[in-house]
Amino acid sequence: MTDAPGEVRGIVFDIQRMCIHDGPGIRTTVFLKGCPLECPWCHNPEGRSPHRELAYSSALCIGCNACARACPNRLHALENGIHRFQRDTCRACFACAEACPSGALEIVGREMSVEAVMQEVLRDHVFYETSNGGITVSGGEPLEQPEFAASLLHAAKAAGLHTALETSGCATHERMAAVVSATDLFLFDYKETDPERHLRTTGYAHARVIDNLRYLDAQGAAIVLRCPIIPGANLRDDHLEGIADLAHSLQHLQEVHVMGYHPLGQSKRQRLGADATATYRAPSRDELKQVAQWLRAHGIEHVNID
Ligand code: SF4
Ligand code: SF4
Repeated sequence: MTDAPGEVRGIVFDIQRMCIHDGPGIRTTVFLKGCPLECPWCHNPEGRSPHRELAYSSALCIGCNACARACPNRLHALENGIHRFQRDTCRACFACAEACPSGALEIVGREMSVEAVMQEVLRDHVFYETSNGGITVSGGEPLEQPEFAASLLHAAKAAGLHTALETSGCATHERMAAVVSATDLFLFDYKETDPERHLRTTGYAHARVIDNLRYLDAQGAAIVLRCPIIPGANLRDDHLEGIADLAHSLQHLQEVHVMGYHPLGQSKRQRLGADATATYRAPSRDELKQVAQWLRAHGIEHVNID
């Protein structure tokens, strides 16, 4: 979204400093809202909606009723001392969150300009210089805000930072092309090899993801394949073989990262009022080590566990 001439603005749901798992060195990771995928194991469900939204934590509620007094639509109430919230007809005016004294109601997402994000990012410039770190733009799927993501990466490049983009590969070539020259490293998520399972679990065609990965590789982009391991979903021999085959086929692959599923996303989904019934377990450290060893044994030289 463009607010004033030359000022590109976007919706950011988090800015995390001192990250050490989102690319080389010490980094600041900027999380943009909006994602076209529906992965039931998502650990950042607050990145799904492209809009600002309301999160509610019952553990923080002190039963003060300020939200009920603030809401113009009477969607909050205390029943026998227990807070009730009718989320379905919420108009996202956020008057309740602004009135809530305890942080139980929280606005997820803030509109920011590229300049404002860069001001925050550059606070840690000295750490980037000493560690060869920089900025990572993540999400959600950051290319759901193509103009903002591209402008942010180009601004970071102009400031002399190392730049990384974490992507699910779910975007058009045009959106990929707009960020290639400003991105030093693509952290490319690879979730599922079987096309039918991919479509069923993520709602997105496997072929389009592969097409974008090959496009980036053909452009000479440096690529890290980031592979979430989810027992009960993709911890299968055929998927590991798929990762190995894909890794071997890429000209500009730097590393494969094996990442364990974390159930943290379930409580976040509950806070956002979303269905939290999908049940997966986190893989053990030994299972992740076995996956990494299997990939090394199948000729993938650089495999890390994140
Ligand atoms: S965001 Fe606005 S409409 Fe929604 S519950 Fe809060 S005060 Fe009511
Ligand atoms: S304003 Fe916040 S703390 Fe008070 S009842 Fe509402 S949610 Fe609970």
